[in-house]
Amino acid sequence: MTNTLPVDSLALPRFCGVPTFMRLEQNASLDGIDAAILGIPSDSGAPYRTGARFGPNAIRAQSVMLRPINPYRGGLHVFQELRVRDVGDCGVVPGYLEETYRQIEEAVAAIVSAGVVPMSLGGDHSVTLPQLRAVAAKHGPVALVHFDSHSDTWDNYFAGKKYSAGTPFRRGVEEQIIDTAHSIQIGMRGSLFSPTDVSQSVELGYEVLTTDDVFALGPDKLAERIAERTAGRPVFLTFDIDFVDPSAAPAVQTPEAGGFSAHETLTILRKLRDINLVGCDVVEVNPLYDGPGQITSLLAATVMAELLALLADGRRAAR
Ligand code: MN
Ligand code: MN
Repeated sequence: MTNTLPVDSLALPRFCGVPTFMRLEQNASLDGIDAAILGIPSDSGAPYRTGARFGPNAIRAQSVMLRPINPYRGGLHVFQELRVRDVGDCGVVPGYLEETYRQIEEAVAAIVSAGVVPMSLGGDHSVTLPQLRAVAAKHGPVALVHFDSHSDTWDNYFAGKKYSAGTPFRRGVEEQIIDTAHSIQIGMRGSLFSPTDVSQSVELGYEVLTTDDVFALGPDKLAERIAERTAGRPVFLTFDIDFVDPSAAPAVQTPEAGGFSAHETLTILRKLRDINLVGCDVVEVNPLYDGPGQITSLLAATVMAELLALLADGRRAAR
């Protein structure tokens, strides 16, 4: 049995050592853990800025700052509740999305078949589809909770090609791995290529809450709405960091002005309750566009830490 507690940052300073997610042990073994942090360094599905292949390690480097206790959930010590390792990165084939998809699906299938919850660091948003395939193979069609400023339900991008960061949540419906009757898309805003951007998601069966809807609703009611919509179903939560305003998250593929502050974003995540989380990812961090202080990577690391706390809180409540 290896260690599933992070390095003690009061014993060894946070700038020492090779950075792993929150200073967890890096070890590909899935024995004796509840959740696995997996890097998916692919940007082969990016229609605009490439560079999200550097996301996982940029997020890890900032995550060493984060501490193990989450005060927003009753002083929860995340890693006493949940045994977690950073299992490293899956393989990818740059420029070859379908081969990359096979490698992602294989890596995530190994995690879910070991009874472990996959928690991934992207990568552009195309990486979510093969994860959904692997998760649905184990749990059946998932309830998708999708934070993003874009719906990503396009039919194709460029020359009729079906796989891209703009299409996974239509492909997932076609492949019957997303249960849209229990799924919700949150945060859509900005200019569009087609006026049907929101209605096409509704036609697929998703509930859609725009950025304006979320501000009107407020974080408590939003959390209730998500819990009701997904009630009892296996949930995959996918978080595109461009949900956040570019002032707080500039390092993304496709920034959309007029979004959520870092505080508003984290408040929403800290309110989430009663979600049967079977997998999640944080995607679209492109550190090549980050500012001094690597604020986007730091926020993405914090988002993943909140998702770990959500899972740990659920496990604590179930005991
Ligand atoms: Mn997206
Ligand atoms: Mn987006």
